[in-house]
Amino acid sequence: MKYTYFFGPSLTEGNAQYSNLLGGKGANLAEMSNMGLPVPPGFTITTEVCNYFINYNDFPPDLISQMNSNISCIEKQMKKKFGSAENPLLFSVRSGSKVSMPGMMETVLNIGLTELTVRGLAKASGNNQFAYDSYRRLIMMYADVVMEKSNNIQAHDNLGIRSDLESFMDLYKKKINCYSDSQLSGDDLKNICLEFKKIIYKKFNTRFPDDPYVQLRESIKAVFKSWNGERAINYRNIENIPHDMGTAVNVQSMVFGNLGTNSGTGVAFTRNPSTGKNIFYGEWLENAQGEDVVAGIRTPNPINEDSRSGNSNEPITLEKKYPDIYNELYTIKEKLEMHYRDMQDIEFTIENKNLWMLQTRRGKRNGVSSIQIAIDMNKEKMINEKELLNRISSNHLNEIMLPCLDPAEESNEPVIAMGLPAGPGGASGKIVFSADTAQKYHDNGLSVILVRKETSPEDIHGMFAANGILTSRGGMTSHAALVARGWGKCCIVGCSKVLIDYNKKTMTIGTNKFKEGDAITLNGTLGAVYGNKISLIDNKIHDNDQFNQIMQLSDQYKRLGVRANADTEKDARTARKMGAQGIGLCRTEHMFFSPNRILTMRKMILANTTKQRLEALNELLPHQQKDFYDILKAMTDYPVTIRLLDPPLHEFLPTSKKQIEFLAKKMRISFQDIKNIIDDLHEVNPMLGHRGCRLGITYPEITKMQATAIFNATEQLIKDGFKPKPEIMIPLIGTDKEFIHQREIIDSVYHKGNYDFQYMVGTMIEIPRACLVAEDIANHADFFSFGTNDLTQTTFGYSRDDIGGFLKEYISKSILENDPFASIDIHGVGKLIERAVKKGKENNADLKIGICGEHGGDAKSIHFFNKINLDYVSCSPFRVPIARLASAHSNL
Ligand code: ADP
Ligand code: MG
Ligand code: MG
Repeated sequence: MKYTYFFGPSLTEGNAQYSNLLGGKGANLAEMSNMGLPVPPGFTITTEVCNYFINYNDFPPDLISQMNSNISCIEKQMKKKFGSAENPLLFSVRSGSKVSMPGMMETVLNIGLTELTVRGLAKASGNNQFAYDSYRRLIMMYADVVMEKSNNIQAHDNLGIRSDLESFMDLYKKKINCYSDSQLSGDDLKNICLEFKKIIYKKFNTRFPDDPYVQLRESIKAVFKSWNGERAINYRNIENIPHDMGTAVNVQSMVFGNLGTNSGTGVAFTRNPSTGKNIFYGEWLENAQGEDVVAGIRTPNPINEDSRSGNSNEPITLEKKYPDIYNELYTIKEKLEMHYRDMQDIEFTIENKNLWMLQTRRGKRNGVSSIQIAIDMNKEKMINEKELLNRISSNHLNEIMLPCLDPAEESNEPVIAMGLPAGPGGASGKIVFSADTAQKYHDNGLSVILVRKETSPEDIHGMFAANGILTSRGGMTSHAALVARGWGKCCIVGCSKVLIDYNKKTMTIGTNKFKEGDAITLNGTLGAVYGNKISLIDNKIHDNDQFNQIMQLSDQYKRLGVRANADTEKDARTARKMGAQGIGLCRTEHMFFSPNRILTMRKMILANTTKQRLEALNELLPHQQKDFYDILKAMTDYPVTIRLLDPPLHEFLPTSKKQIEFLAKKMRISFQDIKNIIDDLHEVNPMLGHRGCRLGITYPEITKMQATAIFNATEQLIKDGFKPKPEIMIPLIGTDKEFIHQREIIDSVYHKGNYDFQYMVGTMIEIPRACLVAEDIANHADFFSFGTNDLTQTTFGYSRDDIGGFLKEYISKSILENDPFASIDIHGVGKLIERAVKKGKENNADLKIGICGEHGGDAKSIHFFNKINLDYVSCSPFRVPIARLASAHSNL
């Protein structure tokens, strides 16, 4: 079997298509080599080896010999030898699974340095300092990743071997009055290496291996093991990444960014990942190895003027210092974008003024930048309209619709610190200093801002739980920035004014002191930190050109109609603004709860005689008529589906003694009489009780009154020059007889009233029996609208108000895939719907069919509804844009 794939200038065996086998990093290293870009040669060990290793805790028999032949091939190209005492070849061992998991898996650099070879490296480079700097890095990373983490030794609060070694080094620097790593001499570093090894031996009771091949082998194993580390598993769970995918390992010859001031390393994005603007954006560090940039240990320099973050005293750009190298990098950036037709996140190293490419991958981005980039690339003719739409997810759209800080409040708050704007939007919440606390606060329903010096993969769960993230160190390519960007979370990094004391759980910004639980606010778009709570408000989405463009394109490509659920004129206006093509569900019961109507409603319910009831209904009529007038007017030209009274009557009744007394007085009957009627109306299971069309059947005068109100309003609107399109929906139908009964009442109101306009009468399909006799109902109905909330409830027999009691268990035990009230259960409930659609249309070809449950705003459910050929979906007004986009997606 072939376990290894070579890449390099002379020979490359893989390409970008091989990401299952080679992981994203390996496949793209191969692709860049194929493109003729300068990639240090190496080879990728396949994900199959990872799965083999996890099963057998060993390498497959043939792997070592395949590796050896790859190594000799690299040795020839690099003219160095692995383990040589004269001119040693060093390797990096880099993990890389198919899906990028930033920082999840570990990288070990400078493998192959031993007591012997480090002297060889010093001699060959003529640079003692460089050789021992590389050696101390190897010792540190190896101890951390291979000796500690991959052996599942849990370090508390990040205080593992790495922190032991870092503290020792800090102490050493203090002792000799030296402030930066680069001031350490070769001899200093040599001493540090010696001490490092002692600390390691003391901690683990094993020696740091002095054999290049042992280092290589154990590092590869550590990468494989880390696939099943707790952090990696957590991340995969959050991101829904399958656990059996495995990771590949890249063994690559080292190039050195720490060879002095003519060397360096950096990370860049081919476009600005926060704004999406087509501006090359990146950071670099002189005389450093790659991990320094990503880990946020030193604050990096901008690669060009556009990448400056506002601080005027920042050091010199790559563009100024080495224009030739910058230009070469710029050309490569253009090539990569043209080739991949997407924004790339690249890593590079400069060794003695030679540029090497170490990685390219699809750049993570937030919603704002995703949309900007897709629109720009379409304009630049890199992608077509369909690709443009496909690159925008409902999450992206959601993000730009999300709330931002109230500008009025914000302008009154002083900015207490500025950092780098890593994730846009606003967030306000209580400060916490650890991921676990963030999780705890979040579980208690509190908004939190996670404040850390820098974040690491151990913090993932807390970052996920937090409303916003603030770090005092790190740049735009630090761990915190990358993760926040992927999730579209508000995030500010590198805010150096923030001084954190983890032990005391306090933070100081200038003269402001904060403790855990105090409120702060972040403006992630600007990078501004405020020392108080600031309210969040809606984004002015309709003024956003990008939003409008995406919506227009979505409408062009979608087939499904998108309506909104709206009960009031105000909601109806919002729905129109959001692009709803009608109202799919207008509930009438909410109209009865306002203080001046509830009394009449109660009188109606408690009426002893039909006459009394009619009197009360007559009082309600003008109110209803006015409501319908306003809603139909707001939706002129578009249909409005009005559902007749649905909830159990007791929901309208008074509960307190005081309320009952008041009502008794108003109705001039005794307290006890009213109490008795209320007790009579009590039901054991109101959800399945006297409600829906059952009300209209026992009290036909209610249906009559509602139909009259709708028709009067329609007539008036036509007179006033509008184009109302009323659709009357009868709830909770289970037999065709029920439907016929109610329809007759409505039709006779129409005929007796001498009206003259079009209207429709249909039903909400929300109990399984209606699906099973849909053909009979369709003989009499003009439309069906699936009420998928109740249909899910009655099909599963799960009360939607009580599912919380067991849903978590069900999902964790894989009994349910997800919450069936959030995303339609295609397999069960979906089958009923499909049947009803098919049989309904067979008997009535003109039958209009839509859905009006929560599922109407869920992308996955929308795909299903599109597939089974519904006419429209209806969802809450704020989900309408997402439904429009999802409808387009499912039709592309
Ligand atoms: P991550 O997945 O965390 O980005 P990488 O495998 O990309 O991990 O390694 C992190 C950094 O280590 C790289 O950005 C690069 O700067 C450095 N690095 C990796 N391989 C090499 C190499 N062969 N030569 C020099 N530096 C390297
Ligand atoms: Mg890594
Ligand atoms: Mg990388």
